[in-house]
Amino acid sequence: MTTVVSPQAAQEKLTPTNLTKDELIDEINILRKKKNAVILAHNYQIPEIQDIADFTGDSLGLSQQAAKTQADVIAFCGVHFMAETAAILCPNKKVLIPDLKAGCSLADSINLEQLIEWKKEYPGAVVVSYVNTTAEIKAESDYCCTSGNALKIVQSIPEDKEILFLPDQFLGSWVQKMTGRKNMHIWMGECHVHAAVPPSRIDEQRAKHPDAELLIHPECGCLTPYLDRVVRENGTCPLKVASTEQMIRQAGTSTAKKFVVATEIGILHRLKKENPDKEFLPIDTEMSCKYMKMITLEKLYLSLKNDLYPVTVPKETADKARLAIERMISIV
Ligand code: SF4
Repeated sequence: MTTVVSPQAAQEKLTPTNLTKDELIDEINILRKKKNAVILAHNYQIPEIQDIADFTGDSLGLSQQAAKTQADVIAFCGVHFMAETAAILCPNKKVLIPDLKAGCSLADSINLEQLIEWKKEYPGAVVVSYVNTTAEIKAESDYCCTSGNALKIVQSIPEDKEILFLPDQFLGSWVQKMTGRKNMHIWMGECHVHAAVPPSRIDEQRAKHPDAELLIHPECGCLTPYLDRVVRENGTCPLKVASTEQMIRQAGTSTAKKFVVATEIGILHRLKKENPDKEFLPIDTEMSCKYMKMITLEKLYLSLKNDLYPVTVPKETADKARLAIERMISIV
């Protein structure tokens, strides 16, 4: 339901430039000032994009920044559903995504018709959608959540209420295990990057790096067999389940000097930059999201120069989705 400019119409504006990296950075800086633009980048973006952004963070942090920005233009360096969320929160601002093809396999794992059918099966259930969903799905949801506040949001729902949690099965399983909630139904969606890591990788890495803390994103498929242990040894377990922002905080405050990180490898750039005296190792060097890596300095430059590609959400959908997103932002 998101409206975007025709790719054909924009094609001629996408002619590759011959600018060097330094020239691109200079041009982006000129354009962001001229257009009063803010550049938001997700923690999984390539290092050059993270470094030029006004703010780098997770979905929740980026939504908060979008909600309070005074800029006229938001250049969103992330994936499409994130730009949609910014467009919903800022209906009077121009929201741009530098590459229209930057999608998300997790957001694609449920569509509107499927959600409507699921809701019919459980009338009266509270729908909690992970932020990795389209605007249409958010509009049919009672709450949005991120990996950082999914637990708190589910805990805030009266215990006698049935919950439909979507679309990530691994995040859902973790929340269910941590809350002990029996009346929670989980959609079997997954992110192709986080689901691909086998549980054996955790044991391998722990054997290889016994002195390291293991930071695991709750979207990771490898976590599920360890959930009982994480719950049993809550607080003392060397496996720390954390959203990307919680990983950043944990790395800064922990006394550990070495960390094995189980999430998309883009996060390593920020972890290393903010903790130069500590060592960060990926649980798997292949944990790279092709969608997150689509945005380059050149595409960001062309986006700011030619207003590519505006992301808008129909008002009726946006008004409904905003309620669920605002609940997400208010529970941190
Ligand atoms: S890492 Fe997974 S959840 Fe995140 S944007 Fe990529 S496909 Fe979607």
